[in-house]
Amino acid sequence: MLGLMQDVPLLISSLIVHAARHHGDVEIVSRRVEGDIHRCTYHELHRRAQRLAHALDALGVGSSARVATLAWNGYRHMELYYAVAGKGAVLHTINPRLAPDQISWVIGDAQDGLVFFDLTFLPIIEKIALSCKTVKAFVAMTDRAHMPATTSVTGMLCYEDLLAGQSGHYVWPVLDENLASSMCYTSGTTGNPKGVVYSHRSTILHTFAAALPDGLGFSARDVILPVVPMFHVNAWGIPYVAAMVGAKLVFPGSALDGKSLHELIEAEKVTASAGVPTVWQGLLNYMEQNDLHFSTMRRTVIGGAALPQAMLRAFAERYDVTAIHAWGMTEMSPLGTVCALRATHGDAKGEALYRVRGKQGRAIFGVDIKIVGPDGNELPWDGVAFGDLLVRGPWVVREYFHASGENPLVTDADGVAWFPTGDVATIEADGYMQITDRSKDVIKSGGEWISSIDIENLALSHPAVAMAACIGVKHPKWDERPLLVLVRKPGVDVEGAEMLRFFEGSIAKWQIPDDVVFVDAIPLGATGKMQKNKLRERFRDHLLQAK
Ligand code: ADP
Repeated sequence: MLGLMQDVPLLISSLIVHAARHHGDVEIVSRRVEGDIHRCTYHELHRRAQRLAHALDALGVGSSARVATLAWNGYRHMELYYAVAGKGAVLHTINPRLAPDQISWVIGDAQDGLVFFDLTFLPIIEKIALSCKTVKAFVAMTDRAHMPATTSVTGMLCYEDLLAGQSGHYVWPVLDENLASSMCYTSGTTGNPKGVVYSHRSTILHTFAAALPDGLGFSARDVILPVVPMFHVNAWGIPYVAAMVGAKLVFPGSALDGKSLHELIEAEKVTASAGVPTVWQGLLNYMEQNDLHFSTMRRTVIGGAALPQAMLRAFAERYDVTAIHAWGMTEMSPLGTVCALRATHGDAKGEALYRVRGKQGRAIFGVDIKIVGPDGNELPWDGVAFGDLLVRGPWVVREYFHASGENPLVTDADGVAWFPTGDVATIEADGYMQITDRSKDVIKSGGEWISSIDIENLALSHPAVAMAACIGVKHPKWDERPLLVLVRKPGVDVEGAEMLRFFEGSIAKWQIPDDVVFVDAIPLGATGKMQKNKLRERFRDHLLQAK
């Protein structure tokens, strides 16, 4: 017997229809690349998305056709999110921090027919335009008055011209919920980037889960400023979650420096945010130097890389902001675990509380996690055993785009398929997962594993340290030993020997790095993560030479 409930497919268009009807007056505020602040409502954004959908029809964008964006967080980007997916095409958000040849490679791989771009990225478009054979037109996301006076790109279109004259009424088609809605490429530190293709169904289910109180926990009372970019895993789903719950959105555009972010947070009375640790570091440094505080911001979700203890404490103690640690990946839409507290934590305070909050958290419903040893067998949840972290669920990748059927999953003894994340983790008895390393960043000293994340965390709690990366480098006796690479805070001095003494008593002696080197900057990848592979290359023989 089948259930007798309405068969309404889970579609992305339903989010913006809901927002326009039930949260129609809620604002979306954007700092534009043109320099000014733009304001609109969900109702207005929906009308413009409908005009854009007509414009896309007029340009011949058909079902499942790929439309790319190279854009910051802003209302026009959000219109593209809804118009492209809503009409049954696929939005391919491109990370502009990829190298130009990688950008043209992903455009070719995805077979993008149109590329919408913010003016900031005109130099990239000019560099790659000729090599993008699939692209019929490049669209500058601006109005006629701001169109570039001269450009080498032929036939460039203007976004506002496309919308002008189009009807603000569009009947969103009833699609198969399993159709592709958007795609995003992993950053491809080794080899070419891999395409991850989300569906309407996976996106809506992910949105429900992300909106839960112990998920991202956003509500109609929130003003959310997503620092996490819309070009990376759909800004962790925030453009969808905000529409679902009716939260005001504040888009920072290209201005991600501490001063601009702080001004916008204060001016728009932002209550919640989300981003990677490196961006927060910039904001916190600026606030510390200028003795600033937050009047309304009380929560921020931090993920993409481990949330350092020092940052967790600074947010709580100096700014009265709860930093919520979350973990996920492009292949997981991206949310996997969120570190929300349980009733059993009671009024936990101080060290005990920070210890819990520093973990990556518990699985949200929809995602299952387990850790396995080299034999593939599940390891105990005791907070000590660590192994490869596997995941499964309706918003976890099954296959990469254009992977010719190659299966990235592993099947366990019960015949259940899991996606290996490439992360190494422990899980506590109560389900709190902690990433100890990326498997390729693991340091193996004489057969024993040392967690680079633990050491970085500790180093960052020293007042003179701005950034820290711990890498394994060659050692004649132990194969590999930890080397700590540090960036000093401006105007503060610290020597290597003092740093090494700082570790004494906090971690086992054999885990203390063999040496410390100071650098001006640690290279960051396209998603703001430290490129430890570059550091390993640079310092590979450091300990051999020191001997
Ligand atoms: P990319 O693959 O493009 O670099 P992803 O966001 O997909 O970007 O990267 C996912 C990886 O980032 C995870 O597998 C994990 O190694 C790391 N990561 C994400 N969140 C956290 C976190 N909270 N703590 C530690 N590592 C994290």
